[in-house]
Amino acid sequence: MVNTKPATTQRTYCYPNKMGRIVLLATEEVMGRNGVNAVLNLARLKHLVNNYPPNNFDRQFSFDDFGRLQQALEEMYGPRGARGLALRAGHAAFKYGIKEFGPVVGIGDLAFRLLPLGMKMKVGIEVFAEVFNKFSDQIVRLGEDESHYIWTIDRCPVCWGRHANEPCCYFAVGILQEGAYWVSGGKSFSVEETTCIAKGDNACVILITKRPLD
Ligand SMILES: [Zn+2]
Repeated sequence: MVNTKPATTQRTYCYPNKMGRIVLLATEEVMGRNGVNAVLNLARLKHLVNNYPPNNFDRQFSFDDFGRLQQALEEMYGPRGARGLALRAGHAAFKYGIKEFGPVVGIGDLAFRLLPLGMKMKVGIEVFAEVFNKFSDQIVRLGEDESHYIWTIDRCPVCWGRHANEPCCYFAVGILQEGAYWVSGGKSFSVEETTCIAKGDNACVILITKRPLD
């Protein structure tokens, strides 16, 4: 197919292959290989069926593919079913992610472990944001108010190209839930998406409570 638009407008936003691979492995952990293949087929992502991206930093896993994968999940399982699956896949993705990126960003060493909880959360969230900002085309901004850390995604792969009535970036929520659990050494925090680009907002905003639930 001949593309006549100038190259500058053709920028395709991507995750590095390594992250795309993690997204698919994590989804497979939750649904099995056949489940992933069914969702990929429905999403018209046949090029990924039994052909996950290689484990490198080349930015070739497009946000468009990520959004279509999440959309297909919802078409197959309905909003509630898809929500549960995406949250669990997000949890699994964090575990794969920390193995791949932990050593790169130097988190998890003893000095980090010994920080007080509040400081650990703050540093941990900063490091996670840096991983996305540095290695991918996802843009994350951090803020906080009295009771929450505020994780703002200005360019979000999870809902890329999607339209929804409710915030739908559950995969991202799952990653942050598991991240907060890991950073805090096993405490749970309320993690909730309050605005979402898919429903017309300017950004996907996820709030993480500063105090653990228990
Ligand atoms: Zn989003």
